[in-house]
Amino acid sequence: MRSVSIFGATGSIGVNTVDLIRREGGARAFRTVALTGGRNIARLADQARELQAELAVTAHPECYAALKEALAGTGTEVAAGPEAIAEAADRRADWVMSAIVGAAGLLPGFRALSHGSTLALANKESLVTAGPLLMAEARRHGACILPVDSEHSAVFQALVGEDIAAVERVIITASGGPFRTWNASQLAKATPAQAVAHPNWSMGQRISIDSASLFNKALELIETKEFFGIDPEKIEVLVHPQSIVHALVGFNDGALMAHLGPADMRHAIGYALNWPERRKLPVERLDLARIGQLDFEAPDPVRFPALWLARQVMETGGLAGAAFNAAKEVALDHFIAGAIPFPAMAEVVEQVLARLSCDSGLTIAPVDLDMVLQTDHLARVRAEEAVQEMQ
Ligand code: NDP
Ligand code: MG
Repeated sequence: MRSVSIFGATGSIGVNTVDLIRREGGARAFRTVALTGGRNIARLADQARELQAELAVTAHPECYAALKEALAGTGTEVAAGPEAIAEAADRRADWVMSAIVGAAGLLPGFRALSHGSTLALANKESLVTAGPLLMAEARRHGACILPVDSEHSAVFQALVGEDIAAVERVIITASGGPFRTWNASQLAKATPAQAVAHPNWSMGQRISIDSASLFNKALELIETKEFFGIDPEKIEVLVHPQSIVHALVGFNDGALMAHLGPADMRHAIGYALNWPERRKLPVERLDLARIGQLDFEAPDPVRFPALWLARQVMETGGLAGAAFNAAKEVALDHFIAGAIPFPAMAEVVEQVLARLSCDSGLTIAPVDLDMVLQTDHLARVRAEEAVQEMQ
């Protein structure tokens, strides 16, 4: 029986993962080693009960008692706190879903790789902050990383049987988000509620807002470089409002292989769950005659500077990804709290990158996760300062 663990089980990706596992037979077909969540204790307890999980962990120590009570008499062990989440990854599972949001997802994924688990990676922040370390850890332990981000799953699928040396370019698409057609003065007044309303995808709050600012696509540019080892000049972003084509791979004979599918994360999650097989999945079948038209346009770097910042990060390399992600997370927190306007998120990130480049130098390649986490911490401090100066 295959063993699985899900980090971030209570979130959007986590719930879709549980749904697919349920459809494949749930506790009869899989041994669930660990499920982790944050504050959604009722959902975590329901999932643990349904999948007969051996361990359930909440990230928050103050939620421990509630989780313990909810799982009393079930045989599921309960733990709490970030360290307990990292330790849950030391309980080896064959297949591990990394779907915690933010830099908090880095450590458990890293630990899972050190036990040779197959890591289904939704947490793009892991590759952005520590790509080379993560890929090296996988190689060292003969572990496999499978992309779950829809664009990267699409590229991965387009590359099956192909020679990476024949790849001339990789194009990842962006819907453009709810503000695709907004002008600068409208963007200055955009609210978190407007930013979260993604036109095509149903996702967690943070990634939805990142989609509106194109910071999500910025993270994905870096993710593409790190995962596939492709030069940044060969990676392009194309705005495609229908979110039907997820990525295209261009080869040296002029062919473009496109991956099309509905905007349903269960495709990419299911592909990673069933890999290397392809199995039937409960996603809508596209009716292209009804869809009729697919549109493409170039992204606007003036209204959406996040992509340009990501190019800078890829050029700098080293610790720049960790600084970029941390600054973005802090800026996002302040936008959600109503403390800074929507366009100020990119300003905060730009300032943090500039300050840290002068202070400490971001070009140094990290040798371990501690260096990454130190840069993450420093960038958060600088981002808080930048936000304070804007008040
Ligand atoms: P959600 O916000 O829906 O879920 C996040 C999960 O992480 C929840 O289980 C949450 O717990 C938990 N969590 C939050 N903060 C912490 C923390 N500090 N420590 C431990 N656990 C925590 O996010 P999504 O599912 O949307 O996204 C998850 C990851 O997948 C992100 O990295 C995102 O970029 C990526 N991704 C998501 C896609 C999507 O369609 N949603 C598409 C592609 C990539 P709780 O809710 O119980 O508090
Ligand atoms: Mg994506």
